Amino acid sequence: MNTGAAEEVAQEVYRIELPLPWELETVNVYAIRLEDGYALLDTGVGTQECFEALGASLEGLGIAWSDIRLVLITHTHPDHSGLAARVLDATGAKLWMHAAEREQLRIYADAGRHEQWQAGALELAGVPEPLRQRMRKVFEGMRVSFARLEPERELRGGETIPARMGQLETVWTPGHSPGHVCLYQRESGVLFSGDQVLERITPNVSWQPDHDALGSYLGSLRMLEGLEVRRVLPSHGPPFAGHRERVGETLRHHEERCRQIRGHIAQAEMTAHEVAAKLWTRKMGALNHYFAAMESLAHLDHMERRGQVRSRQDGGALVWAPAA
Ligand SMILES: [Zn+2]
Ligand SMILES: [Zn+2]
Repeated sequence: MNTGAAEEVAQEVYRIELPLPWELETVNVYAIRLEDGYALLDTGVGTQECFEALGASLEGLGIAWSDIRLVLITHTHPDHSGLAARVLDATGAKLWMHAAEREQLRIYADAGRHEQWQAGALELAGVPEPLRQRMRKVFEGMRVSFARLEPERELRGGETIPARMGQLETVWTPGHSPGHVCLYQRESGVLFSGDQVLERITPNVSWQPDHDALGSYLGSLRMLEGLEVRRVLPSHGPPFAGHRERVGETLRHHEERCRQIRGHIAQAEMTAHEVAAKLWTRKMGALNHYFAAMESLAHLDHMERRGQVRSRQDGGALVWAPAA
């Protein structure tokens, strides 16, 4: 499928695959027919190329910008919400997003606050200073994607949207991001899974200061496992079936990762950054180093809460060992 191309993936629901400037090549935006106009699920990344591709796809579908009445953001990662401000300008649509995403965006949009937040997290993970500097540069470049957004409605989960395909329900699935939401059409068993369930990759789960991010993510997976789903419409990649198998694989992936981490820190005490270097042995850029360190820290934090590992402070960093 060419990026910018659109295909009908459920009754009057169109998947628009948009280009990304990163390793992860494309993101899906869904145009969902409502009784009156359309809802857009996510917007794509904040590049001119992506904006033009979205405009061309909508035009190809015979949808005018002004036909879009609602923009719903699954979560505020730049590939999903980077174009939101521009799309809202073009459409005059209402914006819905989860309350926790709005709060997170407030931090991200504030350069000083975000840098401080990030510096603290990277110190805790034991990332060496030269690499931290490279990460800061990458995030400086990305900060334009984190413009503040003021939603007309802050979601909590359970809100409904009357679509032509049937009523859609928002489902709060925290973990990959604190206010990540999926959309579920119960009668047809269609789940718009955002980044929560993907067919070929597992989404990054980053450490959060105030809660067990991995525990939240795994809890969201188990909750989705209980839903009757015939077709998953993910944010990356084509539609797929077999959501329980994929949820099961993803749960086992994280169990296996916890097991590997315990094995590594049983050999020698390690920081989260050192654990990440054992788990990801390929050569990585600064951004992927960041994700790897934050994901390792999220796993260690999760295991510590379950009494499986313990940490001690060494300078600003946490050093990890198996629980006695
Ligand atoms: Zn994401
Ligand atoms: Zn994504």
